Amino acid sequence: MNPCVEFVPINIEGKTGIDVVIHSEEATLADYLSALEEYIERGTYQRVRAETGKCEGCDVCCQERVPLTSLDVLVLQKGLAPGLPLGEFFKRFTNVCVSGPVVDITLARQSDEKCIFLNRETRRCLNYNERPLVCRTYICTPLAPRARKLRDTIVNTGEDELVRLWFRSSVKDGLVIHEAWDPEINEEDWSENAWTGKITPQQVYLKDIVPSSLWNELYEKGE
Ligand code: SF4
Ligand code: SF4
Repeated sequence: MNPCVEFVPINIEGKTGIDVVIHSEEATLADYLSALEEYIERGTYQRVRAETGKCEGCDVCCQERVPLTSLDVLVLQKGLAPGLPLGEFFKRFTNVCVSGPVVDITLARQSDEKCIFLNRETRRCLNYNERPLVCRTYICTPLAPRARKLRDTIVNTGEDELVRLWFRSSVKDGLVIHEAWDPEINEEDWSENAWTGKITPQQVYLKDIVPSSLWNELYEKGE
């Protein structure tokens, strides 16, 4: 068990879902990921969307939008196409949609709306070890409100940092945009955050990401 982040079962409207508690002010994104992956593997909860009762061989959530964080793109770029300029990476592996002031960068999908990394026959991820944070942290079970807020905050702050990377990647070849609806974007709207300059989840501290009100809900001092 991870001593910094603990996932526990909780009853939500008659279903066994998942709650989370943070036990250390030094808890990192890496602690969150390893504790959640272990819980998904061995913990007690009910999957509510599974076709087969397990994730292996189920592709229900691989047909949905996969927002990317800055660390996801750095990991995928290193694994899939080392040396490929970031702008080219965005072009080939993502979908960048700009709507007014909003920038949405997601993993590319094919014309059947399924993820580019999904093996259609086996229904398995072709890039499992490097799958994005959203894939690693999603499980189709009810989440306690604070567990949902924590996941949303992690994903949203990581997405914001990716937009900063996307702006920077444009210096040489211009911005990569796949879809645009009245774009009105301004780089200054994305200020630095706790993800800035970080290249591994061990460097991202949860306390630096979450607002203090949410931290107070999540933190219970460990033994
Ligand atoms: S989390 Fe996704 S892959 Fe796993 S059982 Fe639920 S819908 Fe299927
Ligand atoms: S990266 Fe893998 S796990 Fe994530 S949506 Fe694509 S196929 Fe599914």
